[in-house]
Amino acid sequence: MTQPANGSHKGVIFSGMRPTGLLHLGNYMGALQNWVTLQDDYSCIYCAVDIHALTTVERPEETASIKPNIEDMVLDWLAAGVDPEKSIVFVQSHVPEVMTLHTLLSMITPLGWLTRVPTFKDKVRQMHETEETVNYGLVGYPILQTADIILYKADTVPVGQDQVPHIELSREIVRRFNNMFGETFPEPKAKLTEAPLLLGLDGQNKMSKTLDNHLDLAATPEETTKRVLTAFTDPERVRRELPGRPDVCNIYSLHKIFSGAEASSAVYSECTTAQRGCVDCKRHLADSINDYLKDLRERREEFKARPGYVQEILHEGGKKAKAIAVETLAEVYDKMGLG
Ligand code: SF4
Repeated sequence: MTQPANGSHKGVIFSGMRPTGLLHLGNYMGALQNWVTLQDDYSCIYCAVDIHALTTVERPEETASIKPNIEDMVLDWLAAGVDPEKSIVFVQSHVPEVMTLHTLLSMITPLGWLTRVPTFKDKVRQMHETEETVNYGLVGYPILQTADIILYKADTVPVGQDQVPHIELSREIVRRFNNMFGETFPEPKAKLTEAPLLLGLDGQNKMSKTLDNHLDLAATPEETTKRVLTAFTDPERVRRELPGRPDVCNIYSLHKIFSGAEASSAVYSECTTAQRGCVDCKRHLADSINDYLKDLRERREEFKARPGYVQEILHEGGKKAKAIAVETLAEVYDKMGLG
């Protein structure tokens, strides 16, 4: 069995997020909250994957937002409870060894493995490209993702169901490498994240910044209330006197998550008997969400006020990540007959 490179007997988690800027409540419930909890049981490595962000850049000026987006995103991580004393927190491009490993792994990965990944075809369509015109980086995306994980000898990757095929592919690449060059990397396992599916303010789609149906973690309470008031409710409740149907209303689903059991059951009965109006119900929900995020927002402000704080953490994290990466890459060079 291959030992983790950090010398610890704990499992090693690797997880990354593309630097898209401020995170929203869906990101928090779907991944970030889980990152915080995992720190108790694993050695965790959390990475702002800025090179991955380049795979979908269409105009050079878009790259100008990468650095500020990293800062905003990492502030959200820290405010949520990602602890740089326990976990390695760093930026993917600060450890260029990952690009070398990506190139080496691409020598043993058949093209067909990459083009059959379901998300590849979706991405090509979304970008209005064809398999002939799409950039090579997007085709090789799963190899870079594999390099991210195994460079640090991570054995566990927290993912949602839609990411499982990517981890399967990483396992195939690792198996092929280990078969060809000898046991080097642990086969990473997917650790399915159990998180409530958080629909956005449109009440229909998963919360997402692209669909503009999201609530930013770092928004002010006033901004949050303003946005919650725009949310869709039961479409058949066109007048205040009509009883509502909480079971088809996303506001009620969100109350169940953020307002507690007792308040939610009051929402249910007051809605179905027309004793509560939707505007009041949404104000109530906004108050619950603002209470839920109060501590996180205070910590964020505190960290943001410290000059250079995020950069210092990323610098230190980058040094720790690099130390592991250099060692792994030396082993890979040796096994592949290079250097
Ligand atoms: S009262 Fe609340 S739960 Fe009922 S339809 Fe309106 S917003 Fe939805």
